[in-house]
Amino acid sequence: MCPLGGPLFDGFSRGPKARLVCHCLLIETDQGLVLIDTGFGLRDVKAPYSRLSPFFIHFNGVQFEQKYTALAQVERLGFSARDVRHIVLTHLDFDHAGGLEDFPEATVHVMQTEIEAAQDRRGFIASQRYRPGQWDEVKRWKYYSAGGEHWFGFEAVRDLDGLPKEILLIPLAGHTRGHAGVAIDTPEGWLLNAGDAYFYRHEMGSPKQRCTPGLRAYQWMMEVDRKARIHNQERLHALSLDRSKGVRLFCSHDAIEFDEFAPPAKRMT
Ligand SMILES: [Zn+2]
Repeated sequence: MCPLGGPLFDGFSRGPKARLVCHCLLIETDQGLVLIDTGFGLRDVKAPYSRLSPFFIHFNGVQFEQKYTALAQVERLGFSARDVRHIVLTHLDFDHAGGLEDFPEATVHVMQTEIEAAQDRRGFIASQRYRPGQWDEVKRWKYYSAGGEHWFGFEAVRDLDGLPKEILLIPLAGHTRGHAGVAIDTPEGWLLNAGDAYFYRHEMGSPKQRCTPGLRAYQWMMEVDRKARIHNQERLHALSLDRSKGVRLFCSHDAIEFDEFAPPAKRMT
């Protein structure tokens, strides 16, 4: 996404357009491929105005290119759509749920409160952010509520149906009602996809939190529960400072964080 405002959004662009990403994660497991979030999908690329809100298409400067879709990237790795057996969603916003229908065999895992909020979609922002056309053909859903053993002090959903026990949902409400991070216990330690619980890399990892004015305003515009959002962001910030926990975090839209995981030199474009 390339909203107008350049560095006022991303903190590094030189021109008038910022560079934000939709950071998806593909995990190879014994139960097949697991995709965390789906960004924009093929159908969004083909017919954006029949699926998405014109307001957000323009405001976020969405770039519709097939090569950026999760499906195109999964196929470039030598897999097919059918190999993706599970999709875990941080939330159902248009920039996370757009690729769901590109993977018809996948079971979709999401918090119960999130699907309820998405079906309710009352108010201008809710009606523009949640686009039922992106997910009305999903065949298999699994809904969850928090419970069970906590994860570094956070509530957690463990033992997701059919998924390896190394993948957990971590409820982080505020941006949306049922927003959640996804924690993965990897051979290199814990990784937390924090979704939209924060937006800018310098909100984490150093004692003083910083955010660009554009992303601060965007978070404010999109929040449904300010108190919960700030509280969760503060808890994540504390986790990011505690090196003894060894949790590596990233959010959905920061391009610099994305580049650290997938350096441009190694990326298949
Ligand atoms: Zn988002």
